[in-house]
Amino acid sequence: MSNAGLIDDLVSANHILYQEGVVDGFGHVSVRHDKDPQRFLLARSIAPASVRAKDIMEFDLAGEPVNARGRKPYLERFIHSEIYRVRPDVIAVVHSHSSALIPFGITGTSLKPVYHMSGFLGAATPIFEIREAAGPATDMLIRDRKLGAALAKSLGPAPFALMRGHGSIAVGNTLKQVVYRAIYAEVNARLQAEAMRLGTVTYLNDAEAAGASRTNDSVIDRPWEHWKNKVKGRKK
Ligand SMILES: [Zn+2]
Repeated sequence: MSNAGLIDDLVSANHILYQEGVVDGFGHVSVRHDKDPQRFLLARSIAPASVRAKDIMEFDLAGEPVNARGRKPYLERFIHSEIYRVRPDVIAVVHSHSSALIPFGITGTSLKPVYHMSGFLGAATPIFEIREAAGPATDMLIRDRKLGAALAKSLGPAPFALMRGHGSIAVGNTLKQVVYRAIYAEVNARLQAEAMRLGTVTYLNDAEAAGASRTNDSVIDRPWEHWKNKVKGRKK
């Protein structure tokens, strides 16, 4: 099993994402194992706000639990396993159904950074179309390795992707970074939709997006500590 500090941070990440409105009864966050890059940690099938250390399971990159002990895994764990498989740079993954992002996926509207906090979004956000991978009659969920691989391919080298009629995924090189990205992608979606109703939007250009992203990454501990303080009372 991985070290207690990493599990503790993963439990906090679950609680923070709930507290900030990114996940509800659904959605999940994982982190790559700190000692074995062929494995990752993800809670059993449970609402993120209720996750405790004992709920954290270990998986291999086929999405199979290595220490289930009777615990039931999330159906959509293949989102995580297939991204870790093809993206060695990725250390943490968030999947959510957060509402402000949904209109972008279903209209094909490009999600782009409207302010400095979401510079990480870069020039354009990919949109995963499940019909291209599995035809017109799915239940929309990433329920096997093949669908996970198709989603990972659609994500490509990007930090964030939308899933048409379903939700989104954020990836990062730390748990702190992926939590930050999941929170601010949702905020950006709200602001962008609001701005588009008001008039013509001026987006961050590539240089501004990259510069803002670098600056925010350099102070990532600050929002992480702030969010952690807000969920301090929750059981671990
Ligand atoms: Zn989902």
